[in-house]
Amino acid sequence: MTSRSLRIAHLYPELLNLYGDSGNILCLRKRLEWRGITPDVYEVHVGDTPSFRDVDIAFIGGGSDREQKIVCDFLLQEKAELKAFVEDGGVVGAVCGGYQLLGESYLMGDERVPGLELVDLYTDRGTPRIIGNVVVESRISPQPIVGYENHGGRTHLGEGVEPLGKVVYGRGNDGVTGYEGCLYKNVVGTYVHGPLLPKNPGVADYLLSRAMERRYGDGALDPLDDAVELAANKVMVDRLLSGKVEEG
Ligand code: GLN
Repeated sequence: MTSRSLRIAHLYPELLNLYGDSGNILCLRKRLEWRGITPDVYEVHVGDTPSFRDVDIAFIGGGSDREQKIVCDFLLQEKAELKAFVEDGGVVGAVCGGYQLLGESYLMGDERVPGLELVDLYTDRGTPRIIGNVVVESRISPQPIVGYENHGGRTHLGEGVEPLGKVVYGRGNDGVTGYEGCLYKNVVGTYVHGPLLPKNPGVADYLLSRAMERRYGDGALDPLDDAVELAANKVMVDRLLSGKVEEG
């Protein structure tokens, strides 16, 4: 068989890297390598003029408001190209600050900062910050998605935008609706840090499978031995759902 590869754009790793978010790229890289698929990781830094033409997966992590604003000013210049990428079925994984950037706008203090308008959602603010562990049931992952959330933003999905899933522990998008994250075409947005993908191999494989389907017309992935990852996921879910964890 001819060799296969996927190109992963890691957006602004030096700025958007809270709570181990950079481990998400490591996870995608390893899960490709273990299957004999070559990962081609392309880091996009501040000041670059990125091209998404050959990209299969764009990944954007979370960061503080200050860092998010710097990134947004650069990314807004790529808005049209990113929109075309998303509408063409390009895969996007976006965590927290990166998730907020997908929308129409987000509120920073009193300033409404424009977003990339890739998904019909917007983010305003609430107090107190939402901080703590989170567990989400989602159709894209056979296991509950587990991680950590820390956001002042409250994200509101437009009509017709599917949430990533239902919050079974924690607060999620806005602490009110009981929903977490968003799914739109091949875009996954979420508040789950932790890092998201090593803790939730089902989510990692969803992104990889969508990207393989788009590039090669076949999203089937060889199974991997995820015993350790799944045991860790289960321990955390069980601890949280048993009510024994005291959130600070
Ligand atoms: N700055 C955003 C907020 O506080 C996102 C923070 C984050 O990425 N954890 O809402």
